[in-house]
Amino acid sequence: MSETGRSTGIHIPGWAERVADSLGAGPHVVVSGISVSGNIHAGNLREVLVAEAVANALRQRGEEVRFIFHADTIDPLRKIAPGIPKSYEEYIGHSLSHIPDPEGCHVSYAEHFLVPFEEALSEMEMDIEVLRSHELYERGVYTGVTSEAIESTDELRRILHEVTKRKMPEYWSPYLPRAGSGKLTGMRVLEHLPEQTSVVFTDEDGWEDSADYSKGEGKLGWRVELAARWKALGVTFEPFGKDHTSRGGSTDTADRMATEVFHYPVPGRYEYEWIGLKGRGDMSSSRGIVLLPKDLLRIMPPGAVRRIILGRDPARRFDIDLEGGFPRFMDEYRAEMGEPYVPFTHLVTVAQTVGGDTEAAAQMLRRGGYEEAVGDGLADDLYYARNWATEWAPESMTLGLLDPAESERAAAALDDEQREYLREVSVKLRPEMDGETIQDVLYSTAIERGLKPKRAFAAVYKVLLGKTSGPKAGPFIAGLTLDQVGERFSV
Ligand SMILES: [Zn+2]
Repeated sequence: MSETGRSTGIHIPGWAERVADSLGAGPHVVVSGISVSGNIHAGNLREVLVAEAVANALRQRGEEVRFIFHADTIDPLRKIAPGIPKSYEEYIGHSLSHIPDPEGCHVSYAEHFLVPFEEALSEMEMDIEVLRSHELYERGVYTGVTSEAIESTDELRRILHEVTKRKMPEYWSPYLPRAGSGKLTGMRVLEHLPEQTSVVFTDEDGWEDSADYSKGEGKLGWRVELAARWKALGVTFEPFGKDHTSRGGSTDTADRMATEVFHYPVPGRYEYEWIGLKGRGDMSSSRGIVLLPKDLLRIMPPGAVRRIILGRDPARRFDIDLEGGFPRFMDEYRAEMGEPYVPFTHLVTVAQTVGGDTEAAAQMLRRGGYEEAVGDGLADDLYYARNWATEWAPESMTLGLLDPAESERAAAALDDEQREYLREVSVKLRPEMDGETIQDVLYSTAIERGLKPKRAFAAVYKVLLGKTSGPKAGPFIAGLTLDQVGERFSV
């Protein structure tokens, strides 16, 4: 296992090593292609991370690697994603790059969903090139393969028919020219003029028009585009989810188109499975089950995001647990990193007690016996723990120190034995005591007074947190000042 730094946590898993072995000598072009028709969620991130792991494995072998994120910005809008105004139905069939941003904050519909994802990749310090398909068409990157595809219309139609068993329309064309209306769908290509890199077509109203495919005035249909882009970009590896690799799916057609029409070898492949969110199901933009990469980066460092999204093996389905099981995941992740760490549940207690005060947190951790783990990353760790406590933690793990007035009200539920116990403990506490010593004081005082420890600790939690249970009391109290404790124990 190789680790290069805590922030990115780049680690090359065994499965990626094996894929890299199978790809042989480069130069390599690793690509990951994602639709930008809606939120690009954490499930989509899995595809990019699979590609990244393979790119890193190749780089580690000294191979030259170009790692590309191909954003399908020129694709036509197919249906309205949840949360998008119904009025957007008029844009169905238009390129995502040519549709206005539904919230008005970016230059297009495509950018509205792409930019936040791009920002997350950048926050993860990913060494990746983001290409927008509408720009590739406009820059002429796809001119050669588009011409080849149009010339091979009959062959491509035959492959599509043989693989999908679908009856192909008589006027089917691999190329979708953009009509004056902005629509890419429903046109009929009549003639190819290779010298002028253009096609003549009739639009949805039967009017004749032409489109120059070297200038982005249309695009290849997506099944054809997949094979064509392998050739145009020189792709040697691309991961796919199971929606593409099913029988008769897009990889089946693209594989045949690549070899039989474009005379380009099928790139190396890895089939990854979906991830779900525990208790909510598979992630899906169209069903509104969306967890954004940014949501993950609020509660864990980039290395942990990679670890949780990929799982042990991305070829297997996996449910991410961001609720009760999350602290254990974080502890396992930290342990794998081989550095001293504070157990996540304790960090959560500390973060909720001190808020954003890093100095107070450091003191609390030192007194709690975590001297070694107090380092430069503490402010980040507190940020993650605090966000997790507010956004994901089960109710049993959320806590906040009661203010003195709230504490007084909570104390009304205590009996005289419990009150006297708290007062005695308060007198015994000293500033130099650490968490374990305080724990001993709490326990032995209860025994000496003949008070059942369970009732004694319930009193402690009641006046501090307003609950009857909580984190281990000694280390928790060690994080507070004697004044804070004294004020709440003098009941
Ligand atoms: Zn926007």
